[in-house]
Formats: sequence, structure tokens, C-alpha cells
Amino acid sequence: MSEVRGKSRFIDGHTHHYFSNYSTLKLLKEEGYEGAAVLSYFPVKPSCRCTLKDLYTWLTQSEKERFKSLKLTPYIGLGIHPRNIYGKMEGEIKEIERNIEESAVIGEAGLEKGSIKEQVILKKQLKLARDYGKPVIIHTPRKNKQEIFELILKILEETRVKQEQVMIDHLTMNQLEKMENNTYYIGLTVQPGKLTQEKVYHIIESYPKLIDRIILNSDCGREPSDPLAVKKTVDFLLKREVDSLVLEKISRGNFINFIKIRE
Ligand SMILES: [Zn+2]
Ligand SMILES: [Zn+2]
Repeated sequence: MSEVRGKSRFIDGHTHHYFSNYSTLKLLKEEGYEGAAVLSYFPVKPSCRCTLKDLYTWLTQSEKERFKSLKLTPYIGLGIHPRNIYGKMEGEIKEIERNIEESAVIGEAGLEKGSIKEQVILKKQLKLARDYGKPVIIHTPRKNKQEIFELILKILEETRVKQEQVMIDHLTMNQLEKMENNTYYIGLTVQPGKLTQEKVYHIIESYPKLIDRIILNSDCGREPSDPLAVKKTVDFLLKREVDSLVLEKISRGNFINFIKIRE
């Protein structure tokens, strides 16, 4: 394959690899991955503050070390996924704040059903992002995606967090026209039930103006997902003769720009 591909280094912009075994991480290294975002999510509803507190410790300490032992860069995300909300979450917000220096990003935050409770918790996380200048990754749901996406845009405007600090994730073709009017980063998730490689190709062809803001990811965790989805999508797009500079941006460069430490 081409020289450019030989040098390729991939970063997966959204994973939950603490659910992955060591062999999977080793495979990432062997296949040319440089690192991955590893975002907070707990698969059952927490019964108390300790659940997410311990998850944050797991990610910022032992998961970080596991990545480093393989020379992979972990971009740790501390946040409250909307499916993990069980109360006011005040203790969890304090825990995120207490560990903020150990994190690269706030997330996975976002809305699932769009309830008032979810909106309040999202706003609290956006406030942390604004106060500490941290990037934030925002989940959009499969159900009612368009409606919830528009609600997220409204909340983002109200919270006045800098647009280049925010990645709105799991977007599809339907949301992209609106994304031409802002400067938020755009997460495209290649996973069964989300986007296919073919759909990513159509998005890239249809929205060339968005190339500098698109971030490919696998959302690889405990759902059916491919840990190599980013690399395989790049391979697919190369065969469709997508420019190698474009591929470098969507599989690595844009994420680096998004995640960089801000003043
Ligand atoms: Zn998500
Ligand atoms: Zn996720």
C-alpha cells in the first residue's frame, strides 16, 4: 500500500476500552494506533456516588497505566453519561472537578431522552468545560436524534461554551447541514446501528467544508463494535480515492486540534 498509509497513525476519538481485554489494546498498537479517547460510562444505573467515583479512579489511574504500558496515548474522559443519571449527581460533579487535571476531556456527557434532569446534568458538565477550558464530548441518542440534537445546540448556545471546545458525537447525514453554521467538532461513529463506512464516504463527499472538524470513532466498548473501525474506514476511503490529507485529518489531526490544552 502507499507510503502515506504506511506512516498512518490513528486515534480513535471515542471508546470505552476499559471493557476491552489486553489483546485488543495490543492489536490497536500493532495496527498503527497512536491512542484513543477513553470515556466514562457505566453499563448499569449506579446506586450511589461511589460507582462513578471508582470508575474515574479506574480510568485516571489503572487504565492510563495499561495504555502507557503499550505505548498508546490514553485521552481519559470523565463525565456523566445521560444513562447513568440517578439523582442530582452533585457528588459526581465534584469528583469530576477534583480529578479534572487527570482528564483530557469531559465526557461522555449528552442527552438520551432530553428530560429536564438530563439537561441540568449536561449544563453542569458544560459549565465545568467552560470554567476549566476542557474539551467536552457530547452523546446524541439513536432515538429522536434530530430533536435531541437541536435541543443540545440550544443548550450549548445558552451555556456559551466555546464551539471549538465541543464535539457533538454519533451524528448522521441528517444533522450535517446545520453543522455548516457553527464550528463544533463532528463525531462520526462507525459501528453496527450507527454509521457504515459507505455512509461516512457519502458524508465526506457531500460536506467538504466540514473536513477540518470531522472525528472518526468506534465507540468500542461492550456493545457490538469493531476496535479497528477507524483504521478500516480509512482503508475503505483510500480505495474510494479520498485524499490522504483528508484521511489524516479525520482519523487523527482533527482530534489532536480538538483535545489540545487551552489557556
Ligand atoms: Zn454515546
Ligand atoms: Zn460511548
